[in-house]
Amino acid sequence: MDTVIGRGFATERSEAMQPYRHPMPPDCMPELVIAPAIPEDERLWVPQQENVWFRPLCLSVAHGYWTSLLRVRKSGILSRHRHPQPVHGFVLRGSWRYLEHDWVATEGSYVYETPGETHTLVVDEGVEEMITFFQVNGAMIYVDPDGKVQGYDDVFTKIDMCRQHYDAVGLGAAFVDQFLR
Ligand code: FE
Repeated sequence: MDTVIGRGFATERSEAMQPYRHPMPPDCMPELVIAPAIPEDERLWVPQQENVWFRPLCLSVAHGYWTSLLRVRKSGILSRHRHPQPVHGFVLRGSWRYLEHDWVATEGSYVYETPGETHTLVVDEGVEEMITFFQVNGAMIYVDPDGKVQGYDDVFTKIDMCRQHYDAVGLGAAFVDQFLR
Protein backbone atom coordinates (compact mmCIF):
# COMPACT_ATOMS: atom_id res chain seq x y z
CA MET A 1 0.00 0.00 0.00
CA ASP A 2 1.70 3.16 -1.12
CA THR A 3 -0.94 5.68 -0.23
CA VAL A 4 -1.96 6.55 3.32
CA ILE A 5 -4.76 9.02 3.76
CA GLY A 6 -6.98 9.89 6.67
CA ARG A 7 -4.16 10.53 9.11
CA GLY A 8 -3.22 13.95 7.85
CA PHE A 9 -0.66 12.89 5.27
CA ALA A 10 -0.41 11.13 1.95
CA THR A 11 2.49 9.56 0.19
CA GLU A 12 1.12 10.32 -3.26
CA ARG A 13 0.86 14.01 -3.92
CA SER A 14 -1.86 13.58 -6.52
CA GLU A 15 -4.14 11.89 -3.99
CA ALA A 16 -3.35 14.48 -1.32
CA MET A 17 -4.48 17.27 -3.64
CA GLN A 18 -7.67 15.49 -4.59
CA PRO A 19 -10.69 17.36 -3.19
CA TYR A 20 -13.39 15.36 -1.44
CA ARG A 21 -15.40 13.84 -4.25
CA HIS A 22 -18.90 13.98 -2.79
CA PRO A 23 -21.44 16.67 -1.97
CA MET A 24 -21.73 17.89 1.60
CA PRO A 25 -24.66 16.44 3.57
CA PRO A 26 -27.93 18.03 2.46
CA ASP A 27 -28.58 19.52 5.91
CA CYS A 28 -25.10 21.01 6.21
CA MET A 29 -25.23 24.79 6.64
CA PRO A 30 -23.01 26.98 4.44
CA GLU A 31 -19.62 27.91 5.84
CA LEU A 32 -18.99 31.46 6.96
CA VAL A 33 -15.85 33.36 6.03
CA ILE A 34 -15.54 36.99 7.04
CA ALA A 35 -12.55 38.88 5.74
CA PRO A 36 -11.41 41.08 7.19
CA ALA A 37 -12.98 40.19 10.54
CA ILE A 38 -11.87 43.58 11.87
CA PRO A 39 -13.87 45.64 9.39
CA GLU A 40 -12.73 48.59 7.32
CA ASP A 41 -16.30 49.91 7.22
CA GLU A 42 -16.96 51.55 10.58
CA ARG A 43 -20.71 50.97 10.16
CA LEU A 44 -20.26 47.25 10.80
CA TRP A 45 -19.51 47.94 14.47
CA VAL A 46 -22.76 47.80 16.41
CA PRO A 47 -22.87 50.23 19.33
CA GLN A 48 -23.59 48.52 22.64
CA GLN A 49 -23.08 51.37 25.07
CA GLU A 50 -20.98 54.54 25.00
CA ASN A 51 -17.47 53.72 23.65
CA VAL A 52 -18.36 50.02 23.38
CA TRP A 53 -19.15 48.19 20.14
CA PHE A 54 -19.45 44.63 18.91
CA ARG A 55 -18.89 43.26 15.44
CA PRO A 56 -20.97 40.12 14.77
CA LEU A 57 -19.24 37.14 13.20
CA CYS A 58 -21.34 34.01 13.70
CA LEU A 59 -24.81 34.32 15.22
CA SER A 60 -25.89 30.76 15.95
CA VAL A 61 -29.64 30.64 16.34
CA ALA A 62 -29.52 26.83 16.08
CA HIS A 63 -27.19 26.43 19.06
CA GLY A 64 -27.78 29.61 21.06
CA TYR A 65 -24.34 31.19 20.95
CA TRP A 66 -22.64 34.06 19.21
CA THR A 67 -19.10 34.93 18.20
CA SER A 68 -18.17 38.57 17.86
CA LEU A 69 -15.42 41.10 18.33
CA LEU A 70 -15.86 43.38 21.31
CA ARG A 71 -14.26 46.81 20.96
CA VAL A 72 -13.81 49.34 23.75
CA ARG A 73 -12.25 52.75 23.23
CA LYS A 74 -12.34 54.24 26.69
CA SER A 75 -11.28 53.02 30.08
CA GLY A 76 -14.06 52.11 32.44
CA ILE A 77 -16.36 49.40 33.67
CA LEU A 78 -18.28 47.60 30.98
CA SER A 79 -20.64 45.22 32.68
CA ARG A 80 -21.05 42.87 35.61
CA HIS A 81 -22.48 39.63 34.36
CA ARG A 82 -23.01 35.97 35.07
CA HIS A 83 -22.39 33.15 32.61
CA PRO A 84 -24.66 30.09 32.67
CA GLN A 85 -22.49 28.58 29.91
CA PRO A 86 -18.83 28.81 28.88
CA VAL A 87 -17.14 31.65 27.04
CA HIS A 88 -13.95 31.55 24.99
CA GLY A 89 -12.00 34.74 24.35
CA PHE A 90 -8.90 35.77 22.45
CA VAL A 91 -7.46 39.27 22.89
CA LEU A 92 -6.53 40.87 19.57
CA ARG A 93 -5.69 44.39 20.76
CA GLY A 94 -5.21 46.15 24.08
CA SER A 95 -6.02 44.55 27.40
CA TRP A 96 -8.75 44.16 30.01
CA ARG A 97 -9.40 42.40 33.29
CA TYR A 98 -12.09 41.33 35.72
CA LEU A 99 -12.47 42.98 39.12
CA GLU A 100 -12.91 39.50 40.61
CA HIS A 101 -9.57 38.13 39.39
CA ASP A 102 -5.94 39.17 39.63
CA TRP A 103 -4.94 38.35 36.05
CA VAL A 104 -4.96 40.72 33.07
CA ALA A 105 -6.03 39.57 29.61
CA THR A 106 -3.28 41.10 27.48
CA GLU A 107 -2.91 41.16 23.71
CA GLY A 108 -2.53 37.60 22.45
CA SER A 109 -4.14 36.04 25.53
CA TYR A 110 -6.71 33.25 25.40
CA VAL A 111 -9.33 33.29 28.16
CA TYR A 112 -11.80 30.60 29.17
CA GLU A 113 -14.71 31.78 31.29
CA THR A 114 -16.34 28.97 33.16
CA PRO A 115 -20.10 28.44 33.69
CA GLY A 116 -21.21 29.89 37.01
CA GLU A 117 -18.76 32.81 36.89
CA THR A 118 -19.99 36.29 37.75
CA HIS A 119 -17.49 38.99 36.92
CA THR A 120 -17.04 42.66 36.09
CA LEU A 121 -15.09 43.63 32.99
CA VAL A 122 -12.78 46.64 33.28
CA VAL A 123 -10.58 48.37 30.73
CA ASP A 124 -7.83 50.23 32.54
CA GLU A 125 -6.51 53.76 31.97
CA GLY A 126 -3.91 53.93 29.23
CA VAL A 127 -5.60 51.35 27.00
CA GLU A 128 -6.57 53.31 23.89
CA GLU A 129 -8.45 50.49 22.29
CA MET A 130 -9.23 46.91 23.16
CA ILE A 131 -10.56 44.36 20.70
CA THR A 132 -11.33 40.82 21.85
CA PHE A 133 -12.86 37.91 20.01
CA PHE A 134 -15.48 36.18 22.16
CA GLN A 135 -17.57 33.09 21.73
CA VAL A 136 -20.43 33.48 24.20
CA ASN A 137 -22.69 30.49 24.77
CA GLY A 138 -26.22 30.87 26.05
CA ALA A 139 -26.49 34.27 27.64
CA MET A 140 -24.83 37.14 29.44
CA ILE A 141 -26.93 37.79 32.54
CA TYR A 142 -26.33 41.32 33.83
CA VAL A 143 -26.42 41.57 37.60
CA ASP A 144 -25.84 44.01 40.44
CA PRO A 145 -23.02 43.36 42.98
CA ASP A 146 -25.34 41.02 44.90
CA GLY A 147 -26.28 39.00 41.85
CA LYS A 148 -29.71 40.53 41.38
CA VAL A 149 -30.61 40.19 37.71
CA GLN A 150 -30.85 43.44 35.78
CA GLY A 151 -31.04 42.19 32.23
CA TYR A 152 -29.55 39.78 29.74
CA ASP A 153 -28.23 39.35 26.24
CA ASP A 154 -28.53 36.23 24.14
CA VAL A 155 -28.04 35.59 20.43
CA PHE A 156 -31.53 36.93 19.75
CA THR A 157 -31.03 40.26 21.52
CA LYS A 158 -27.69 40.59 19.70
CA ILE A 159 -29.40 39.99 16.35
CA ASP A 160 -32.03 42.55 17.24
CA MET A 161 -29.33 45.14 18.05
CA CYS A 162 -27.63 44.40 14.72
CA ARG A 163 -30.89 44.75 12.78
CA GLN A 164 -31.70 48.11 14.33
CA HIS A 165 -28.18 49.46 13.86
CA TYR A 166 -27.68 48.24 10.29
CA ASP A 167 -31.04 49.65 9.35
CA ALA A 168 -30.17 53.01 10.94
CA VAL A 169 -26.80 53.30 9.13
CA GLY A 170 -28.27 52.44 5.72
CA LEU A 171 -27.00 48.88 5.32
CA GLY A 172 -30.51 47.55 5.86
CA ALA A 173 -31.83 45.33 8.65
CA ALA A 174 -31.27 42.22 6.51
CA PHE A 175 -27.51 42.86 6.49
CA VAL A 176 -27.29 40.81 9.67
CA ASP A 177 -28.78 37.73 7.98
CA GLN A 178 -25.40 36.74 6.48
CA PHE A 179 -24.08 36.05 10.00
CA LEU A 180 -26.93 33.73 11.04
CA ARG A 181 -26.45 30.00 11.24
FE1 FE B 1 -17.62 37.33 30.92
